[in-house]
Amino acid sequence: MTVNRLLTALTASLLFALPGLAQDQKPKPQRPTPQDIEKINAALPEKAPATPKQPRKLLVYTKATGFVHSSIPLGAKTFELMGQKAGAFTTVISDDPESFAPENLKQFDAILMMSTTGSLFVPKDAEKKEDLLYKNPTNGPIPAELVRPAQLRQSLLDFVRSGKGLMGIHAAADSSYKWKEYGTMLGGQFNGHPWGHIVMRIEDPANPVNAAFENKPFEISDEIYTFRETYSRDRQHILTSIDLAASKIDKGFNRPADNDYAVSWLNKYGEGRVFYCSLGHAENTYMNPVVLRHYLAGLQFAFGDLAADAQPSGPLSPQRLVENNDTAAAGFQDAGAGGEKAYRDSKEKEQSFTGTLEALPQPAGVTTTMRAHFYKLGDRLVFTGGKKNKSLDALVGKPVEIRGKTIDMELEGQQLHELWPALIRPAEG
Ligand SMILES: [Zn+2]
Repeated sequence: MTVNRLLTALTASLLFALPGLAQDQKPKPQRPTPQDIEKINAALPEKAPATPKQPRKLLVYTKATGFVHSSIPLGAKTFELMGQKAGAFTTVISDDPESFAPENLKQFDAILMMSTTGSLFVPKDAEKKEDLLYKNPTNGPIPAELVRPAQLRQSLLDFVRSGKGLMGIHAAADSSYKWKEYGTMLGGQFNGHPWGHIVMRIEDPANPVNAAFENKPFEISDEIYTFRETYSRDRQHILTSIDLAASKIDKGFNRPADNDYAVSWLNKYGEGRVFYCSLGHAENTYMNPVVLRHYLAGLQFAFGDLAADAQPSGPLSPQRLVENNDTAAAGFQDAGAGGEKAYRDSKEKEQSFTGTLEALPQPAGVTTTMRAHFYKLGDRLVFTGGKKNKSLDALVGKPVEIRGKTIDMELEGQQLHELWPALIRPAEG
C-alpha cells in the first residue's frame, strides 16, 4: 500500500468510525443449555421481597439489531424462571415491535428491555431514516415506514407515564440512541465499556432494592458501562456505583467531568417507575444470586409492589468528587486518539511508552490536515487526528506513560514515527 493510499484508508476509517457501536459484530445468541437452566434456577431467589398486589405480567423485549449479545436468550429465560420460582409474575418474551401496540400492552404491568440494541421500533432497513422522526414537523410528513414506529414509541412512553413499570438491563441503554426521550425515561445512554472488573459501592444501603448486597461492597466481572447525557443524579436515584479507588481500574476514564459511574438506579417517569442495571452482558451474571436478587427487587419496584425511595440523589458530595478525581488523575485517561477504528485495525501490538510529553506547533508545509500533530513523546509524534486534546494538554511538560500502537511511514519524503495513543497517565518523575 502506498503512503497516499494508506492515508486515504486511514482518513476514511476516521470519518466513518462510530465509537460505541459495534455494528460489525455477527449475531450469535446462545440458547441456554439444561446445565445453564439448572445453574440459573439454583441461583434464583426462593421468594420475592414483596407480595404482589395483584397478578403481574412482564413483557421481556429482545429486539437487537446492533450488537447482538449472546446472553439475550439466557437472560430472557432467567426472568421467566424468576417469575415462576418466586411466584411473583408471569412472563412473555418477544422481539416483535408490535408487542408495543397499545391494545397489547394493556395486559402488562412492566416491560423489560433485555439488552436491546439498534432502534427499538424502526425496521433495520429504515433505521437511517429515523433522524426524520426528530426533525418533524419542520421536515414535512413522516415517511410511511416510520409512521408505525412513531406510534409504538408513543405507546411505550404512555405506558410508563400512566403508572406502569420499565426495567432496563445492560444494552437497554444502547438502544434508540438518538431518541432522547427514551434516554431520559431510562436514565442514561451508553458511552463506553472500558472496564471488566469492578468493586461496586452500595450507595443507599437502606433501599430495599439494594437488600441483596447486605451493605457490603460487591465485586463482579462483567462488561461495565459508562454513561453520557440523560444520566443525571439530579433526576435519578443512584443505587450502586463503581468504587473507583477499590476497583484498581487500569484503563481509560472517559467521563472526566466528575468521574461518576453508576451501575444501577431508580427513576420516576410521569406516574411510572424505572429500574436500570448495567450488569448483564455476560451469561454468568444471570447465575449470580446477588445480582438476581437485585434484579427481582428492582423489577418489583417497577411493578409497583416494592416501595423504595426513588428521589433524585442530588450532586456528588465534595468529598466524593475529590476522591473520584484523584483516583482518575492517577489512573489512565482516554487519550482520545483521532482514529479509533484505524487504531483498532492496526496490527501493531499495544505497548507502553514513557517520556516527557512535548507540545508541538502545527508543522509548516504539511499538506494533509490529518498530519497536524500537536504533541511529541521522545522520537515519536503523537497522532491525534489533527486535534488538540485536553487529556494530553494537561500533561504537557510532565513525565507520562502512554499506552498505544505505533505506525511508521514515509510521508512527502519525510520519515514519520507515529504513536497512536489510547491511554495516558502521569508517570513517576
Ligand atoms: Zn455488552
